[in-house]
Amino acid sequence: MEPCSICDGEMERKKMEVIKKVGEKVVVVKDVPAWVCSSAEKDISQ
Ligand SMILES: [Zn+2]
Repeated sequence: MEPCSICDGEMERKKMEVIKKVGEKVVVVKDVPAWVCSSAEKDISQ
């Protein structure tokens, strides 16, 4: 597992909602596992 590329912090496995466009439809895919920085709030407010 690699540390966060922004703040070098620890990454957490979280379930996300991903919005995908399939043709002309927009589909929301729930519970997609993704690595999220545990300090994501800090990263966003940079
Ligand atoms: Zn980070």
